[in-house]
Amino acid sequence: MSFVLIEAGGLPCYRSSLLDAFPEVVHGFFGRQGGVSPEPYHSLNLSFTVGDQNAQVVRNRALVQQALELTALASATQVHGCRETLVTAAPAAAAEELPDADILITGQPGLGLLIKQADCQAVMLYDPVRRVVANVHSGWRGQVGNILGKAVTGLQKSGSRPEDLIAAISPSLGPCCAEFRNFRQELPVELWSYQVRPTYFDLWALSRDQLLAAGLQARQIEIAGICTRCRGDQFFSYRRDRNTGRQGAVIGLRD
Ligand SMILES: [Zn+2]
Repeated sequence: MSFVLIEAGGLPCYRSSLLDAFPEVVHGFFGRQGGVSPEPYHSLNLSFTVGDQNAQVVRNRALVQQALELTALASATQVHGCRETLVTAAPAAAAEELPDADILITGQPGLGLLIKQADCQAVMLYDPVRRVVANVHSGWRGQVGNILGKAVTGLQKSGSRPEDLIAAISPSLGPCCAEFRNFRQELPVELWSYQVRPTYFDLWALSRDQLLAAGLQARQIEIAGICTRCRGDQFFSYRRDRNTGRQGAVIGLRD
C-alpha cells in the first residue's frame, strides 16, 4: 500500500491506495502546483488568511472542486484546536468558511471537506459501513491534544466502529525536518519517545499510534511518508518559507 501521484483535472495530486479501493469516495492530497496565485503564494494556494487575494483563492478552490468533480467544498477557520463540526452544506459564499473547527465530518454526497496545510498533517478518515468521511487538521498542537483520538470518538458517537475506519495521513513535516528545540516546554513527556535524534520528532509515527490507540487496525492506516519541507517544488512549507500559501487535502462522497 502506498500513495500514488496522479493528475486530476490538470492538477497534480497524491491519492491513498487504501481510500482508492472505495469507488464511492473521492479524495486528493494536492500540492502547490496548478493554481493561479502569484509569488509567494504560487500557485495553488487555498487559504484566505495568508495574504493572498480572495479572488485568486476562490479560483484555486474552484479548480480543486472541478478536478474532483464535487458539487461544493467546505472548509473551516482552523485554530489548532480539537473542535469538530458536522458539515451538512457548504457556506453560501465562495469566500466564506465555517467557524473554528479542526475536525470536519460529513455523510453528504458531493460535498468535499477541505483541510488547508503547509507542514501540518491532514488526516482523512472513512467509515465504509456508514459511508461517512472526516478530514482532520492535525498539527503538533492538535497531536498534543490527541485530536485524532477525538475525531474517532466523534465518529463513534454517531455510530461508527473504530475497527471499520480507514485512515490516510497526508504529506506533512517528516522526522527529517520536525525539529522542536523547545520540546521540553512544547511537548508533554509522554511524547518524548518519538524523538528520532536530538530535538527531531517522528510525528507520523505519533499519529499512527494515536489512531491505533483509538481502535483502528494497523492495516487500515496509510501514511504518505512525504515531507513537505523537503519537497519545495511540490509543496508549501511554513517551516521553510514562513510567508507562503497552503495546499489542500479534500475528501468527499461521490454524488
Ligand atoms: Zn524533511
